[in-house]
Amino acid sequence: MMSRAVRLRRLLTASLTAGMFLLTASAGAAQSGITVTVQDNYQADYGVTIPFTRSPRTTDYTFSLYEGGSAAGTPAVSAKVEMTAAQGDVYLPLAYDITGPQSYTLKIEARPLPGRLGTDTAAVREFSFTTKPTCGCASGTAGAFYRGSGSAADPFYVGSQQQLAHVSAHARDGSTFLQTVDIDLAGNAWQNFAFIGTYDGGGHVVRNLKGSYSGSGGLFASFVGTLMNLGVENANITTTSAFAGALVGSGQNVVIQCCYAKNCTVSAQGGAGGILGDDLTAIIEDCYEVGGSYTCQGEGPGGIAGNFDGNQAENAIRRCYAIPTRLTGPMKGILAGKWNYGEMVNCYFPTNISCGATTATYKGNVAGSTGLPLASFSNAANFSGWDFANVWRMDAGAGRPVLRVFDNPKDS
Ligand SMILES: [Zn+2]
Repeated sequence: MMSRAVRLRRLLTASLTAGMFLLTASAGAAQSGITVTVQDNYQADYGVTIPFTRSPRTTDYTFSLYEGGSAAGTPAVSAKVEMTAAQGDVYLPLAYDITGPQSYTLKIEARPLPGRLGTDTAAVREFSFTTKPTCGCASGTAGAFYRGSGSAADPFYVGSQQQLAHVSAHARDGSTFLQTVDIDLAGNAWQNFAFIGTYDGGGHVVRNLKGSYSGSGGLFASFVGTLMNLGVENANITTTSAFAGALVGSGQNVVIQCCYAKNCTVSAQGGAGGILGDDLTAIIEDCYEVGGSYTCQGEGPGGIAGNFDGNQAENAIRRCYAIPTRLTGPMKGILAGKWNYGEMVNCYFPTNISCGATTATYKGNVAGSTGLPLASFSNAANFSGWDFANVWRMDAGAGRPVLRVFDNPKDS
């Protein structure tokens, strides 16, 4: 990761090449210049932080930020600042565009102190700058990120379809991403990719993903790391390869938490599922599937996972439910199709639906799986060990639990 200072410098250096500026009088000649120092490392994340050295002659300033290349019209943000310290940061809150470059003009006005009105004159200086990608890609790169450094504390912000696609450019180095909007992929075939890192959907949804693959199918072809707080709706995925899942085709060493798949159609040769097609090592917690159709030729179709047959003892599915519409294939299970090792904890499946399977897994109702009549899904008391205060809430209209993180999604 770049250091913060380096990253910020990269943002705005082009427009601010000098480290110091002399403010001159706005009108008439300066009798005695009020000197103001501005460093060249502005930051434009959720606002602009301006490291500022004031003039020794005045503490009275106004900072204004205008959209565009000139200080015209009404500023996007303006603050009157009494700057008593010789140096300090001036912060202007601003929700700038995280999906592409945006130009601003910063206007700094300095006023003489009352006792010096006859000696000093007011000064004004303007600086224009355009935000640059924060991910290291060149300006103009389609989908480049304009907020975040990819660290856990400062994730790349994913705020558009193009930026979701651009995740692939940074998907092999363990970066962290935060999705800040719902994204509709209708009309575009989704080019999926292998992912290593952390992806936080932020309580947002990816809709209408459509793709035909020769490798693993899904929003993510394969996933190593942590995936959380993401919903996938109305995906239509086929692969001529072994595995496909609406969210992840192949989970190699993955933790998936607080995600769901809804009304998805997934078809693969080996394993097809809502959250996951197939696992090597996977922990799936507090996830659900509803309304999906899963088809595979050789192995397991399942609502949460198609094949859950990794041979690692730590494999687990905890606090999940699935209500699929149709399961087609030789090793069917409502929660997980082909089941091998691993544990299931407090998971639920309906006993009175006609989806093509009647048991939690291909190997039957393994320990930790409980069948309930569909009508009983509307009673939170039936879900043993589930956190309805923080993680889940009962959706009376849907008649089943839903995840709270989607009620208050993180935004940009
Ligand atoms: Zn990039």
